[in-house]
Amino acid sequence: MVADVILAASELVRSFPTGSAFSRSRVSAVDGVSLELRSGQTLGVVGESGCGKSTLARMLVGLDRPDSGVLRYRGTDVTAGRSKDRRLLRQGVQMIFQDPYTSLDPRMTVLDIVAEPLAAGRTGRAGQRRDRVAELLGLVGLDPGMMGRFPHQFSGGQRQRIGIARALALDPDVLVCDEPVSALDVSVQAQVINLLGDLQTRLGVAVLFIAHDLSVVRHIADQVAVMYLGRIAELGETEEIYQRPRHPYTQALLSATPPASRAERGKLGRRRALSGEPPSPVDPPAGCRFHPRCWLATDECRSVVPELRIPAGDSDRLSACHHAEQLDPLNVS
Ligand code: SF4
Repeated sequence: MVADVILAASELVRSFPTGSAFSRSRVSAVDGVSLELRSGQTLGVVGESGCGKSTLARMLVGLDRPDSGVLRYRGTDVTAGRSKDRRLLRQGVQMIFQDPYTSLDPRMTVLDIVAEPLAAGRTGRAGQRRDRVAELLGLVGLDPGMMGRFPHQFSGGQRQRIGIARALALDPDVLVCDEPVSALDVSVQAQVINLLGDLQTRLGVAVLFIAHDLSVVRHIADQVAVMYLGRIAELGETEEIYQRPRHPYTQALLSATPPASRAERGKLGRRRALSGEPPSPVDPPAGCRFHPRCWLATDECRSVVPELRIPAGDSDRLSACHHAEQLDPLNVS
C-alpha cells in the first residue's frame, strides 16, 4: 500500500536580493523544486554547499515563504497565507538544526528548551509539560534527571538529542533535518543517524534528511533527491541512485563517496571526479546549470534547460539530463 503524501512541494522558487543600492541583483537559491514526502518515509536531499538545500528546508517548515510555487501540508495549500494553515504546518513539520552548539539558548535549562513549543502553544500545565519533557528525553536516550542542566553541560551529540526532543514535543508528522550530523564528531554521527532511524520506526514520522555527503543518507533514506544550484538534478529510490546514477552530477558526487563494498569500488573507480566550483547563483549558466562542469555537455545542454523526467527504460527515478539514456554509469570516463 502506498503511504499518504504528508508534504508536497510544487515548483518552489526562492531568491534573495544581493549587491549594493546601485547594483541590485538577486541570488537564485531554489528554482522550481518539486518533491513529495510520504508518511513514514525518509527522503535524503543531497548537494554541495550553496545548492539551496537549507533554503528549501526553511520553506518546508514555514520559516520562509517561497516567491512562487505551492506547498501543501496534508493536502492544504499553506502558501496561501491563511494563518490557521501556517500554524498547522509549523506544528506538524518540525526542524532539527545543523549546529547543536548555536541552536540551543545557553541561558535556558533543558526543561525550558524542550518544553518551549508546549509553553508557546499553552499545551498542558507546568507539571504535565515536565512529564512530557521527561518522556521526550527518555525517547532520545537522555536521562530525564538532567532536565535542570544547561546546554553547555552536554556534549555535541547530547545537545543534538536535546534538539531532537524539542522537535518531537508537538508530535509532528515530519522532521526536517538540516545537516543534523555535520557539526558532530564522526564517532557520534552514526549514533544520531541511528536514533533518527529508530524514532522514525517507533513514531512513524516522515523524515527529510539534508546532507552534503551521499554516504551519510544511504543507510537511512528510502529516496534521494540530488540538488544542483537550486534545482533537482536527480530523484529516485536510494539504491537505484547509488547503483545506477542517471545524471553526471550524481555520478561525480558518488565518485567522492567511499564505496560500500569491494565490488562497488571497482565500479566507482571508473566514475568521474567533480572538478571546479559551482557557478554563481547570481548569474547561473543558461541551459543545464551543470554544463560548465559536465564532461558530456553538448550545444543542446548549453542552451536548453533539461526537464526533470523519467529516462527511457527507467521507472523509479527522475533525471534532469538531456542525455540520461546515454549514460553508462559504469563507464563514463
Ligand atoms: Fe551534462 Fe548535458 Fe546532462 Fe547537463 S544535460 S548533466 S550538461 S549531459
